[in-house]
Amino acid sequence: MAVELPIYLDNHATTPLDPRVLEAMLPYMTKVFGNASSRNHSFGWAAGEGVNAAREQVAKLIGASSKEIIWTSGATESNNLAIIGGARFNARKKGKHVITVLTEHKATLDSAHQLEKEGFEVTFLEVDDQGLVTPEQVAAAIREDTVLVSVMYANNEIGVIQPISEIGAVCREKGVIFHCDAVQATGKIPVNVADLNVDLLSISAHKMYGPKGIGALYVRRGRPRIRIEPLIFGGGHERGLRSGTLAVHQIVGFGKAAELAMDDLVSGEIERVRGMRDRMWTTLQENLDELYLNGSETNRLPNNLNVSFAYVEGEAMMMAIKDIAVSSGSACTSASLEPSYVLRALGVDVELAHTSIRFGLGRFTTDEEIDYAIAEVITAVNKLRDMSPLWEMVQDGIDIKSIQWEAH
Ligand SMILES: *Cc1c(COP(=O)(O)O)cnc(C)c1O
Repeated sequence: MAVELPIYLDNHATTPLDPRVLEAMLPYMTKVFGNASSRNHSFGWAAGEGVNAAREQVAKLIGASSKEIIWTSGATESNNLAIIGGARFNARKKGKHVITVLTEHKATLDSAHQLEKEGFEVTFLEVDDQGLVTPEQVAAAIREDTVLVSVMYANNEIGVIQPISEIGAVCREKGVIFHCDAVQATGKIPVNVADLNVDLLSISAHKMYGPKGIGALYVRRGRPRIRIEPLIFGGGHERGLRSGTLAVHQIVGFGKAAELAMDDLVSGEIERVRGMRDRMWTTLQENLDELYLNGSETNRLPNNLNVSFAYVEGEAMMMAIKDIAVSSGSACTSASLEPSYVLRALGVDVELAHTSIRFGLGRFTTDEEIDYAIAEVITAVNKLRDMSPLWEMVQDGIDIKSIQWEAH
């Protein structure tokens, strides 16, 4: 079977909308267009019913009650609301210290930096060479004045899965609010707010085959009841925590996406994806030398492969495999030449970080696409290494690190 090009292997950045999600959304953009807050006519009731059903679907995916789901514009907003809103509310009675991790998503790190501007002190925990943080590190960092801890479930670059349940238990015991960014985990591994001991949890539809621009924040209502401050003010929607007319079609799509994500966890779909990912890693290793897996091999999402191809610069690699959409830890996000801060936090050296490629497989990835991608990557790596004087020296047994590059 011929594969259709280009091939999408960047499912950590976003995922395509599942056609079944689109089908569920369409009526809510035309016929069922009411404002879900209009309580006095059938247009509003119909929209409200769509929102209620979706709230149940999303709550079920994470083992929550529908009353605990707050709709947001995406996980960037969910993380802002949880971290800034949670810290501000609780600072009054407890203090101004927050704990998070160096490898978190920018939406978390920048929320923490905003708190620093407001006079909070933030501890950024380091990770080990596998990308993991321990419950003991969190316990040691908690102080009298700590109000909130935020640790992501699965990392968006390296797919590493943190010990959330154990970290949550530490926070619960110490009476500190625990937030978890579970965007990359939902639909790939089980996410249950009770098992995970979390108080606040962020998710996003477009990372799980739903539409962009809709997310949710789980806010715990049972004991201990969690209080946070809103960031957006208006009509008092979403229990006053997030005002604004609900985007009914997006919410309905998110609900359908959540239902489909639950199916994936029991249908064998996750194992199908894991099988393709493992086959890719094994085959690449059989055919190429000097490959380095970034992040833990065992505590890892089934759809993530992040590899450094020594002596092959990431940007050059992406150009050489143009028909395959991936991303690289080399991609310069700013004017600086600094590679991925996540890889650097693991202690990956700068040169090797620049050679990293992230493969993100998904629901629509096929065996044929993986075969094609493997072959393309092997060809590209061989070609680029053949052109590399450094690679040639390494082949000749020269220790590159010992070379004095500059004549004095
Ligand atoms: C994509 C992502 C976000 C941001 O979500 P948006 O809905 O795009 O705002 C936050 N955290 C992680 C881990 C992500 O992968």
